[in-house]
Amino acid sequence: MSFDYIRKLPTPDEIREQYPVPDSLVPIKQKRDAEIRDVLTGKSDKLLVIIGPCSADNEDAVCDYINRLAKVNDKVSDRLILIPRIYTNKPRTTGDGYKGIVHQPDPEKKEDFLHGLIAMRHMHIRALSETGLSAADEMLYPENWGYVSDILSYVAIGARSVEDQQHRLTVSGFDLPSGMKNPTSGDFSVMLNSVYAAQHPHRFIYRGYEVQTNGNDLAHTVLRGATSKHGRNIPNYHYEDLQILLGLYNERDLKNPACIIDSNHSNSNKQFDQQVRIVKEVMHSRHLSPDIHNFVKGVMIESYIEEGNQKVGGGVYGKSITDACLGWEASERLIYDLAELNY
Ligand code: PEP
Ligand code: MN
Repeated sequence: MSFDYIRKLPTPDEIREQYPVPDSLVPIKQKRDAEIRDVLTGKSDKLLVIIGPCSADNEDAVCDYINRLAKVNDKVSDRLILIPRIYTNKPRTTGDGYKGIVHQPDPEKKEDFLHGLIAMRHMHIRALSETGLSAADEMLYPENWGYVSDILSYVAIGARSVEDQQHRLTVSGFDLPSGMKNPTSGDFSVMLNSVYAAQHPHRFIYRGYEVQTNGNDLAHTVLRGATSKHGRNIPNYHYEDLQILLGLYNERDLKNPACIIDSNHSNSNKQFDQQVRIVKEVMHSRHLSPDIHNFVKGVMIESYIEEGNQKVGGGVYGKSITDACLGWEASERLIYDLAELNY
């Protein structure tokens, strides 16, 4: 046995009791959740724009960024729903590198999960209370879900987790939009099987309990591009990809067919500035086909205060320490363009 049990960590209930969501924020979040649900069920034709840094590495910079978003949101809220990315857990391709604020509340210091869990919750609550914009996060560790489940308005299941049964079954117990990404191989059937699993009821073991879920009718697909067997990036945001995915959806009995296009990762080949062109192409595809218009309900954009990325310890405020991001000026312009293009 090579596990060293370092310390027992507080349960989600214990941390939530210590750091509750203030009562005044509850109706704000409920209203947002209802608006987002209406997009996914087809009642509203606003576009979801899930936007923010690859990793939420610094509470001050992340809240600064989301305060900027909130000002823009006031001007576009008749056409767009801006959902900030506050990604507190980072999957790593090889396991090496910064794994998010839960692992390292200070990216330059060693791992500290007690303060990491608190930092994650603290940042989400602060961002919501300063801006009223409830956020998206990735559920990388299903057992950590309870630490933030009362704050988030959107959850993503990453490309490396989407085939995992525990992730799928856990999502089946959520009543909020859950984006199931295509796996890094790009296989659409894996992603659709994941949506199917998440939309159905399950009984399983969760945090030491036998639990029963109802199924999540808001589970949907997210296209993030793929990697070929030769290690090349293969985009999957083009018109033909959307048509193929819609065709596959139509062959299955799935609720609320929907797709979000992630414009970074393997879709941009991590060329962050290409995100502008990519989301505009997606908007063009929506204009060409009413079916695609109804199907593509949002975009995901990696964006921060400063463009590009830096190494951990690089010292530039508001610059990504994981994937390269679009800078603030280009992001703001793009949001206004998206509002214009969502007609
Ligand atoms: C991300 O959204 O930053 C991410 C890691 O995505 P993916 O799971 O698609 O690689
Ligand atoms: Mn990323």
